Amino acid sequence: MNNNTPEKATILVVDDTPANLKLLQAMLQSKGYRVLASPDGKTALNAAAKSLPDLILLDINMLPEMNGFEVCERLKANVLLKDIPILFISALTETTDKVRAFSVGGVDYVSKPFQLEEVNARVETHLELSRQKRELQKSYNKLRELEKQRDALVHMIVHDMRSPLMVTLGNLEMLQYETLSNDAALCVSAALSSTDTVIKMVSTMLDISKMEAGRMALDYSTVDMINLVRETIRMVAPLQASRSITLTPPGEMESLSCDANLIRRILQNLIVNAIKFTDKEKGVITISIENASANKVCVSVVDNGPGIPPEYREKVFDKFCQVSARQQGKGYSTGLGLTFCKLAVEAHGGRIGLESDVGKGSTFWFELPRR
Ligand code: ADP
Repeated sequence: MNNNTPEKATILVVDDTPANLKLLQAMLQSKGYRVLASPDGKTALNAAAKSLPDLILLDINMLPEMNGFEVCERLKANVLLKDIPILFISALTETTDKVRAFSVGGVDYVSKPFQLEEVNARVETHLELSRQKRELQKSYNKLRELEKQRDALVHMIVHDMRSPLMVTLGNLEMLQYETLSNDAALCVSAALSSTDTVIKMVSTMLDISKMEAGRMALDYSTVDMINLVRETIRMVAPLQASRSITLTPPGEMESLSCDANLIRRILQNLIVNAIKFTDKEKGVITISIENASANKVCVSVVDNGPGIPPEYREKVFDKFCQVSARQQGKGYSTGLGLTFCKLAVEAHGGRIGLESDVGKGSTFWFELPRR
């Protein structure tokens, strides 16, 4: 498409009344536009396809074949022409026609007899709007492209970090069995724990990209949810301190089919968060399992921590989201845990959510189909 400066923009004028066609053509040419004139719909469609005008001024009432609405519909159905702004022209004063002009995709409406200054003002406005829309689309496409490149790069780096980290972990594990001074043993133990944290982070990032791309194959098996929760509580026990952690099992629970490893990691994330955000002494955490319906199981993790403000309740599931920038004393945080949970629950065809009362606590719940 051409530039939109008056010297260069091309305007196609379509009107079956020769006098109107001439008048508009002369007026627009005097403003510096390049003008193409068509006396009927068919010629107009050919002219538009050939020269891709920047704007079309289109008469509604044309005889004998296509009227302006039909021409507009055909232009909108053509992927190459659909974004050209169309200004309808008509003597009709009926509101229904004006409404239809917009509903078929027109951007504005000029009434006959025309006020040349008004036509010019509307043409200029819509050329400018269309130029801005194209600029915006270009920037958006560029940003999407950059985002894709960044994601690919991050994925590549994270993927390539895994092997050397595994080698480091293996070597540190071997060192543990050597005869070491107390100080050296402490250093090895700290290095082991940090390496383990980074490996878990890398694995979570890789799993998140796999799930986002729909490439995570789930390993379904029959799982006893009550046992799985008990096992997870035992796993996190070293972090518990004096907090109370209680499981409220349902009266009866049939087993369900899911990827036990993924569900264990979801539970671990939610329970560790509940531990992190509750008081060492007064923290109370309750995990309940319910039959949400005949074919759904709902697990909730309730804590009496600080809660999450309403504006963060959707966002906490986004990648890298943290409610407060500085989470003193809460340990290392990437803001990926809940993203992992959401994607893993959704990969099972389930839902995850959060209810929270600031100052009182949070309830993170997830629902899984029984399958
Ligand atoms: P990370 O993986 O770094 O622990 P998450 O994705 O699990 O991060 O959590 C994102 C953010 O949500 C946390 O940094 C915290 O601000 C908030 N959050 C998560 N769980 C709780 C909770 N139980 N109570 C209060 N805030 C929480």
